[in-house]
Amino acid sequence: MSRLHRATSVPAILLIVVVLASCGRPAAEPAAEDVPASAEPAEPAFTYTGANGPDAWGDLSPEYTACADGSAQSPIDLVDADDADLADIVFDYRAGDVELVDTGHTIQVNQPAGSSIQVEGDRYDLLQFHFHEPSEHTIDGEQFAGELHLVHRDEAGGLAVVAVLLREGASSAVLAPVFDALPAELDATAQVEGFDPSRVLPEQRTTYRYDGSLTTPPCTEGVSWFVLDTPIEVSAAQLAAFSGIIEANNRPLQARGDRDIAHDTSRG
Ligand SMILES: [Zn+2]
Repeated sequence: MSRLHRATSVPAILLIVVVLASCGRPAAEPAAEDVPASAEPAEPAFTYTGANGPDAWGDLSPEYTACADGSAQSPIDLVDADDADLADIVFDYRAGDVELVDTGHTIQVNQPAGSSIQVEGDRYDLLQFHFHEPSEHTIDGEQFAGELHLVHRDEAGGLAVVAVLLREGASSAVLAPVFDALPAELDATAQVEGFDPSRVLPEQRTTYRYDGSLTTPPCTEGVSWFVLDTPIEVSAAQLAAFSGIIEANNRPLQARGDRDIAHDTSRG
């Protein structure tokens, strides 16, 4: 059965969970349990194909209008970037026990408190990461096999997403416990103990940086994007484990408009 059919047949309360837990959304949003049963109707489920696909996201809810009307949306093709000697992102990631959730749109890996990044003087806490397959961002037109989004939030609620591109190659040892435990039913969860997100990062940590949005509804803008320019490798079997559960979940490229892209060359 396709995800579309599953998503349209689940009870309304589950749709709330899907919306709140969807890609790019912070993990600490109110849980569905906090929403009274008599609350407003659930937001419609978005999909990646069909009638509720990306072209229709902006019409699915008044909350989603940025998906259609926004001027700084993600993802984009990373090309014609301005080379700049930028301060490194300081990663302070700690190993901990993580929870995998099948949101219907991706597999999200919720992180315990304690991991953060510092960039340009701001500290952002790591909330969760999740997968897209194939990649959402492209580099000079090149699409990759997948993309991992590490979602962070600062004290003021500002979001910063660090994207790690995935290339098909050797099996990823650090991600193996995650790919081996992917929950295959909507809202199903799984636990992985002692996962170290720092080991997901490539050795070379130069980035493309630009201002964009969440890549799923509500497509909120004001998101600081840091796309690492060096992919990591995952195996064909690992990619297949994900695509066997979640159908292609990449939002199409969005208009860049007049936005600048900076390419950090400090170690390039
Ligand atoms: Zn994402």
